Amino acid sequence: MLLLELRADCNKGLISVKQLGTNPTSVDNVVVGKGNQVTLKPGQRLHMVNQLYPYTVSFSEDTSSPTSAREGSKSNKRPLQRDEGEKESPARKVAVSSHREREADDPPLAEKAKPASAEVEPSFSAGHWNQGLKVSMQDPKLQVYKDEKVVVIKDKYPKARHHWLVLPWESIPSLKALRLKHCDLLKHMQHVGGSMVQQCPDGQKLRFRLGYHAIPSMSHVHLHVISQDFDSPCLKNKKHWNSFTTDYFIESEDVIAMLERDGKVAVKDGTSELLKLPLRCHVCHKEQATIPKLKDHLKTHLTS
Ligand code: AMP
Ligand code: ZN
Repeated sequence: MLLLELRADCNKGLISVKQLGTNPTSVDNVVVGKGNQVTLKPGQRLHMVNQLYPYTVSFSEDTSSPTSAREGSKSNKRPLQRDEGEKESPARKVAVSSHREREADDPPLAEKAKPASAEVEPSFSAGHWNQGLKVSMQDPKLQVYKDEKVVVIKDKYPKARHHWLVLPWESIPSLKALRLKHCDLLKHMQHVGGSMVQQCPDGQKLRFRLGYHAIPSMSHVHLHVISQDFDSPCLKNKKHWNSFTTDYFIESEDVIAMLERDGKVAVKDGTSELLKLPLRCHVCHKEQATIPKLKDHLKTHLTS
């Protein structure tokens, strides 16, 4: 018999709890009642069955199944090739873990909590590698700015000296999902991205661009705010380079203009082919034979 239904909202960091059965469930000692639904915040105490089973719920990263999500099927292949660091990192998963708060002589969690957790297993998983931003954006240690609409994190594999991602709290999977109603949000994202540049010590010295990858690899709309030095060991291959220096990178202003004009964002046919273009310096447009040669060449454009 199902006691409870738990649904996690990863973006808001909340769990919705619905009592399905008659066994009394309470959140911080307030009874939910059969058929009712309440919100459980991290740290609040969930009791099931007459105060017998206390749980707290936390959002955590589960690194126990390395690469499984990516190795599982061909469809997991991402369009933008991941670099070494990204490939070797374990598959990340948001786990809604129920921590039993019992005395020290309690049997191990796995043994004793199993029947209950099997009954309340949440229908939520963000284990696929392309869900990584949803995990990172929730991590206070990674957040460099946040307000009621957006959060800014550092790109985990920065392709330049300064590389941030601005993400809305609202769950918007990709550019394709954007509609006219999102214009104000995108303008705010751009404004916040601009403030990041203004507050950056190199903000005056370096040029920055704010934009979106036409075909993103990671889920959840994210605005790249990236300095144009491209001075980073994480920039390793042609796809990385071309994704930021060809029309694969769409200026934030252009995305907003397109939305205002057409009510949606259209990506041109053949956009993915742009990633295969020859390596060309984004400053002087001279073609470069290899990534190491390009990197050497880029140094000639650096002011310091
Ligand atoms: P794209 O989806 O192609 O627009 O780019 C996704 C960006 O997210 C890349 O610049 C990655 O380096 C970056 N990235 C990938 N995983 C994470 C993560 N877990 N946290 C922060 N940034 C990430
Ligand atoms: Zn050049």
